[in-house]
Amino acid sequence: MLTGRRYLLAFTDEQGAYAETVGSVCRAVWNTALEQRREYRRRGAWINYVEQCRQMAEAKKDPDCAWLADPPSHTLQQTLRDLERACKTHGTWKVRWRSKARTAPSFRFPDPNHIAVRRLNRRWGEVRLPKFGPVRFRWTRPLGGTIRNATVTRDGGRWYISFCVEDGVAGVAPNGKLPVGVDRGVAVAVATSDGDLHNRTFASPGETARLKRLQQRLSRSLRTHGRNRRSKRRDAVRAQLGRLNARIRSRRADFAAQTAVRLVRDYGLVAVEDLRVKNMTASAKGSVAAPGRNVRQKAGLNRAILSKGWGGFLRALEHKARYHGATVVKVSPAYTSQTCNACKHVDPKSRESQAVFRCTACGHQAHADVNAAKNIMAAGLAVTGRGDLAVGRSVKRQPPERLAA
Ligand SMILES: [Zn+2]
Repeated sequence: MLTGRRYLLAFTDEQGAYAETVGSVCRAVWNTALEQRREYRRRGAWINYVEQCRQMAEAKKDPDCAWLADPPSHTLQQTLRDLERACKTHGTWKVRWRSKARTAPSFRFPDPNHIAVRRLNRRWGEVRLPKFGPVRFRWTRPLGGTIRNATVTRDGGRWYISFCVEDGVAGVAPNGKLPVGVDRGVAVAVATSDGDLHNRTFASPGETARLKRLQQRLSRSLRTHGRNRRSKRRDAVRAQLGRLNARIRSRRADFAAQTAVRLVRDYGLVAVEDLRVKNMTASAKGSVAAPGRNVRQKAGLNRAILSKGWGGFLRALEHKARYHGATVVKVSPAYTSQTCNACKHVDPKSRESQAVFRCTACGHQAHADVNAAKNIMAAGLAVTGRGDLAVGRSVKRQPPERLAA
């Protein structure tokens, strides 16, 4: 199975500066090639990766485009290939520009023959990359497989390398354990049908205040100096903001990974809401043509969703399930928070508050997120039991008494 391993790089100053160069050339190539693709589309024509690669090779010979020859050539080809995949998946018009301020620099070495890793000592490893030479990285975990490719990314002021690794693990047989429903709740981050509540604060009150202050400073400087003018002070604020956000993000990723592992290790079937987090958060901003309605209302909800990191949790869950023989089932989230798990009565008023559920019909009282998690488990069992969803044949049919739960 393919999996990712990320390590903190320790570039020399020279390597760091070179990485910035490679990142910005890749960004320029991405933007130029995207504009070219759009130009073709406007004329009702197509241009593909092969043709763009050929043109880039031509352009490198032009003395005006000497900067194109700076990065390792594979990274540029890979950028074009990534762009082609993005355009095929999302459509040429939906693929985004890479802006210097908002897109973290990132580039990939696609050929494992050009990536040589060795361990130096207990704490340090070394990777040889084309044109970079030997680069040291913090050896925090074993590679555990053969390298397929490597991606270098800057995150919050620090550089990381992610190796895509084939770990040689074929799919694990179903572990045959009990099912569980998981609600990605509002009152807590994650609640299970067994009544376990997993939660963590990702930013301390002090950090939240600082986050707010930095954001205000940034937007004020954007207002006074305009968007396009470069300013040293603004760059500094942006860097501080980036570091703080990276810290919060890594805590969230930790929490997602740990909670996910616990679930897929202890249970055989994990039912989760099929909530399109991306769609929900995108609609609040709206498009240029149709500005979002209920923006303020949704903004509050989005903050809650994003601060709990649901998307990341789901990714971690699906990734880790394959190693532990568990199956993840996504069910429709409709009414899961309004349905009484005891008598199945549906009433939005039953949800007294974010944390308390009290059925208006039978008086059943429970933690609101746990009640929802139980409904999600029931829905998950219903779909797998009937085999309506393509969740794989390895899923054991659940005995009828659990179906009635
Ligand atoms: Zn009830």
